[in-house]
Amino acid sequence: MQMNNKSLGLAMLHGNCPRCREGRIFPTSMVSYRKLSDVYQKCPTCNAVLTPEPDFFYGAMYISYAFSVAIVVNVLIILNYLFDDPDVWVYVATVLVSNVVLIPLMLRYSKVLYLYGLGKLSYDPNWREKTQG
Ligand SMILES: [Zn+2]
Repeated sequence: MQMNNKSLGLAMLHGNCPRCREGRIFPTSMVSYRKLSDVYQKCPTCNAVLTPEPDFFYGAMYISYAFSVAIVVNVLIILNYLFDDPDVWVYVATVLVSNVVLIPLMLRYSKVLYLYGLGKLSYDPNWREKTQG
């Protein structure tokens, strides 16, 4: 696979810029809890604008919320079928723990999805030629 031919899914998984699919969207690593959901103003690699307006990512909150609901539903189904319908506290504890553990991922991927879905950046494998000169 060529460097400039990264698949959409892989780029989203890595949190890469929608335009060049090389630069990173987030300044900090996925495991860092500090400045967890900070997004670069511009892509450090191709200089594409990643934050068009200060409140651009406001709507990402709803995606994050949807993720959260999806986790709760999954936990309920899994516990109910695989663990033979345990006590209520097991449900509550599992939902809480899985939310806490997955919040960094949810915050980040909601923004990744938002940027890819609503950002006006499209993949341009030839971005280098266009930004030079
Ligand atoms: Zn970029």
